Amino acid sequence: MIKKLTENVIVVGEGGSSNVTIIAGRNCLIIVDTSLFPEKALKIRKFAQEIFGKPIGLVVNTHYHPDHTFGNSAFEDVNIISSQMTKEFMEKMDMNYIEGVWGKGRADRNHISLPSKTFEKKLSLNECGVKMKLYVLGGHTPDSSVVFLEKLGMVIAGDLILNGYHLEITADSNIKNWKNALSTIRDLSPLFVIPGHGEVGGVEQIKATKDYLMRIEAFIEGRISKEELLSDENFSSREFPELFVYSVENAFRSLVQP
Ligand SMILES: [Zn+2]
Repeated sequence: MIKKLTENVIVVGEGGSSNVTIIAGRNCLIIVDTSLFPEKALKIRKFAQEIFGKPIGLVVNTHYHPDHTFGNSAFEDVNIISSQMTKEFMEKMDMNYIEGVWGKGRADRNHISLPSKTFEKKLSLNECGVKMKLYVLGGHTPDSSVVFLEKLGMVIAGDLILNGYHLEITADSNIKNWKNALSTIRDLSPLFVIPGHGEVGGVEQIKATKDYLMRIEAFIEGRISKEELLSDENFSSREFPELFVYSVENAFRSLVQP
């Protein structure tokens, strides 16, 4: 999917892979998230530079997960910004972790690039003539951050929101923080919500994601049955059902044994 949202914003993502957002400013481009592979990131970089006729000015990582950061090395010559926490999580990735993601051969040939600039909790930026705010909200991962482009009414939500795919509730997810993060995103009143994976949508995605988490909670607390949970359209219509057992186990850990 290559989706042109406005004159200046394009989202690239396909078949459930993570979305890469290209924002064109006056004289340069901002890229949010870099995909899983440096080769793919390089292709997207070339495409962005060609279509807008501008160089890359800044790269942002929404959180540490490899499908949002492992393409960073295609942007080594520009500033890559993330939360301090994201950088710390990436610093802890050893060769075993990287090989587990890429496989041995590729891990030997490529490397991951750490963010070159960090912020603590929030940051206002004016890069390439584009004003944006970055917030660390936590939830999906402790470092999950969003990019808010107020003038465009746009939130780039990372994996706090997935459209059409089951949520990935990981071992370090925190359901309570995730729900709070969704309330914060809702309070920004965006027109466009760019999810970590799946099609771009609007505020309805925020509600669908929150409802999803609340249904998981209700199931874990014994208020609804597995059948009730799975027959809900907000569940049955999402792809990657194989994530479900993994996510429920992690949600149980987050809610019952925090
Ligand atoms: Zn993620």
